Amino acid sequence: MDNKEKKILIVDDDETSRSLIRQTLCDYHHVYEAADGVEALAFLQRNPDTALVFMDILMPRMDGLELLVRLRLSPKFRELPIIMLSASSEDDVNQKATRLGATRFAYKPYRMALLLQMAEDLLVLPRKEADIAPGSLDAFIFSRSQAIDSGILIIEAREDGTLSTLYFSPTYAMLCGYTAREYNALVAAGSDLLTTIPGDHYDSFRMSVGMIAEEKMPMAFYMHVQRQDRQALTLSCLGEHYMVEDDEHSLVCLIADTQELETERGSASDLPGERLDRLTGISNRDTFFLSARRLLDEYPDDKFVLGTFDIDRFKVINDVYGTQVGDSILVQLAASVAREVLGKGVCGRLGADVFAFCMREEDFDLEGLLQGQRFLSDNLGLAYNLVIHNGIYPVIEREAEIATMCDRANMARSTVKGDFNKRYAYYDEPMREAILAEQEILNDMQKALETGAFVLYLQPIYSLNFEKPVSAEALVRWKHPEKGIIEPGKFISLFEHNRFITNLDHYMWELACRYLADRRERGLAPLPISVNVSRINLFQPDLVSDLMALLQKYDLTPSMLRLEITETAYMDDPEQLITASEKLRKAGFKLHVDDFGSGYSSLHMLKDIPLDVLKLDMRFLGDLEPSSRAATVLLGVIRIAQSLGMVTVAEGVETRFQLEFLRSAGCDNIQGFLLAKPMPIDEFEFFLDSCPIL
Ligand code: C2E
Ligand code: MG
Ligand code: MG
Repeated sequence: MDNKEKKILIVDDDETSRSLIRQTLCDYHHVYEAADGVEALAFLQRNPDTALVFMDILMPRMDGLELLVRLRLSPKFRELPIIMLSASSEDDVNQKATRLGATRFAYKPYRMALLLQMAEDLLVLPRKEADIAPGSLDAFIFSRSQAIDSGILIIEAREDGTLSTLYFSPTYAMLCGYTAREYNALVAAGSDLLTTIPGDHYDSFRMSVGMIAEEKMPMAFYMHVQRQDRQALTLSCLGEHYMVEDDEHSLVCLIADTQELETERGSASDLPGERLDRLTGISNRDTFFLSARRLLDEYPDDKFVLGTFDIDRFKVINDVYGTQVGDSILVQLAASVAREVLGKGVCGRLGADVFAFCMREEDFDLEGLLQGQRFLSDNLGLAYNLVIHNGIYPVIEREAEIATMCDRANMARSTVKGDFNKRYAYYDEPMREAILAEQEILNDMQKALETGAFVLYLQPIYSLNFEKPVSAEALVRWKHPEKGIIEPGKFISLFEHNRFITNLDHYMWELACRYLADRRERGLAPLPISVNVSRINLFQPDLVSDLMALLQKYDLTPSMLRLEITETAYMDDPEQLITASEKLRKAGFKLHVDDFGSGYSSLHMLKDIPLDVLKLDMRFLGDLEPSSRAATVLLGVIRIAQSLGMVTVAEGVETRFQLEFLRSAGCDNIQGFLLAKPMPIDEFEFFLDSCPIL
């Protein structure tokens, strides 16, 4: 772009002064005018490519210093050349403006040639590309026109730990109980509004500011002030390191939000215990619940959203990088959400790595939120991809408890948990219905166990050598009085989640043992049964003794009851699985790896744990064409198992082709719909009598 096309903005409430400068520059550049800071911000928001600003200091609505501070807080305008128009070079304000980031000064009466020269000099200077953090303070910077305004305070933190105020905005003074007229007097008197912070709160305030100055990391915290009328106030505020600094001083910008403004005599004293989260400084769970409730009640006609988010496998970060790094990530995440809701809503840390926010639907910028989270991940400097999942509940039922709303957001979040590509989910009607259906299952489960509604189905397992069933797998079916037969796919993972699986598995093992004993009593040939052992049970300390007691009760040996475990147990906790499997094998049990190849750790598991039987699910393999890749993999796995001395079972066998392939590959046993589906005991016995020949 050649110089002639550059955009220059003149901000001054004095029209004569504006037109004077405009006439000097308009032959060379595009010149625009604004009568105060509010107008200037609106212009700059629409014209971020503005190349230079002339700015008066004293203006109504928003003066030059506040405008300057707001611009310097925005990554977009951090480097924008700003010439302050000043009455005299003697003015104290000039020094302040310089420290706040003014580029140059022009003194009245203007010498036009000088002004033009200054403009040209600044316009040709190369400007650094600003690194724009999404979710940065931009929303706040331009939010002046909104009903919710925030006070600004620029604090100078010295190395010796002392603080002073370099600048405070009129809104901040108003929060402290001063009128606009008193503001000017305060500024003129060089007043330091830090005196409004009561003595017993000052140290924690100083620590928070000190931390921001030192770590240069944004932080959200509460600030306690005593207003001029002696009323105590709590302001939620966000602190960021400000752009200008030298060796001994650091400037920290605090933005005090009026949204959560409250008097301590009133609701604040009703808050139980601690109000803030100690680590991140934002609201803790209780405070968030209260402030979100208040927000919803205060704006009964507006629509709101409530969201929660957390970090995927946060535990891993703590394990790999240490808790200090983990903590610092939490602090940054807290600050980014505080920034996102500033002036728009409330946020808090619900616990561990779970955060929540609540804001007006029209203010909610999902893309901005996700972008902010990605930005954080990209800029952590860790060789680790931070994956954050969000659940969003559009507040439909306003009367519901905030905790319930968080649950709904969590439910939505749980549907994308672990998904690398999907980072958010909304709570909606189908989800609600699915969750209600789940709830019904959970309501009915105990009764079902008591009334014997969980029944044992058996699916034969054939030997390819002997061409007959050599064992069977016990599979549960739920005979529901209204819904009919429910397949385990609908309830097992739910029961694992609420640990009811402990009861169900024991029950199923007992049914299997009872059947084995019954066969023996009827003089039938022994037929070992495999039972499924959920990973939850695998890690129970009394698993071995429980199983042994069960076998004893029915006078059986461990060789009759085989245990199927899945490799997800290995993923959860390899060490513990190694210990558990050693104990079980010592007690004489044979261990089967179920669904081999469906997880991520198959080969690790084989390497680390001696196991007896490998179950391969044909459904995980895809098309088994001759000489296909799937066929090669299958052959390879069977060979590995054989060389480790393991027996191989292929399950999910549905076609004759699969059967013949498995036979030629040397697979030992097969299980699948081709031979028989899982069936109730009486059918199973009938089936054994009339067994099909392979
Ligand atoms: P699993 O242990 O891998 O069981 C094999 C599943 O594959 C069974 O599903 C069986 O019906 C199905 N199957 C067998 N052959 C074929 C076939 O040729 N084609 C197809 N499409 N499917 C076949 P089911 O009974 O629905 O059980 C699903 C899963 O639920 C089981 O997978 C097991 O992980 C779990 N489960 C079942 N019963 C219990 C139990 O009592 N306790 C525990 N913890 N889990 C159980
Ligand atoms: Mg199984
Ligand atoms: Mg299986």
